[in-house]
Amino acid sequence: MAETAVDVIDVTKRYGYMAALKSISLCIDSGDFIALLGHNGAGKTTLLKLIATHITPSAGTVRIFGVDAFRDNGIRRKIGLVTHVSFLYNELTVRENLLFYANQFGIREEEFLNTLEFLGMDRWYNVRTMELSHGLRKRADIVRALIHDPDLILLDEPFSGLDSETCEVLVNYFDAHRGKTLIIASHSLEWVKKLCDRGIELHRGELSREFVF
Ligand code: ATP
Repeated sequence: MAETAVDVIDVTKRYGYMAALKSISLCIDSGDFIALLGHNGAGKTTLLKLIATHITPSAGTVRIFGVDAFRDNGIRRKIGLVTHVSFLYNELTVRENLLFYANQFGIREEEFLNTLEFLGMDRWYNVRTMELSHGLRKRADIVRALIHDPDLILLDEPFSGLDSETCEVLVNYFDAHRGKTLIIASHSLEWVKKLCDRGIELHRGELSREFVF
């Protein structure tokens, strides 16, 4: 039987009085590629940030690979998150940014050069992040999120703003990394369907349906 990668147990997340997630429970097996769907404001980003331990739940428990995500700091080593917001420093080059994040995980430069090349960012390695186009910055952000070779990859709208060639590159990259656990929040059904086995839909902070593609 597959190991459980993500176990969200009766989780509620409130921002002030507004509940962005309402008593959500879901289970994702290790190795699953999951699409997280739903209208604007449904709670997708909130759920990804909770799973990544970037925000804490108002109630409930999140277990990642069997451990309570909010009691074990080491769990972040297994998680890679790409959000709408870039974590890259504008004044630094792509290389300087990546080395900065790599150092935090004790990763050497040669260990992430493959990912850099696969995502076609080697040409832009010595360019300052502020000079990158939206799509190139997104690609650099994805390399940053994958730098420590995480087992659980969380992507919030990875395809938005990317040309179809780059979307294809991304799909091919993750296709070559079956075995990892992937959750993609996206409105681009065309692309997520190429990767994901299962869809989970949120509606106003509640799970509305689960389906197989
Ligand atoms: P989209 O498809 O537009 O990215 P989403 O499904 O990712 O939307 P969330 O960003 O998780 O939705 O937002 C869920 C709800 O929580 C929305 O009503 C949003 O306004 C609210 N919300 C999100 N972040 C905050 C915050 N930091 N403070 C207050 N409210 C927030």
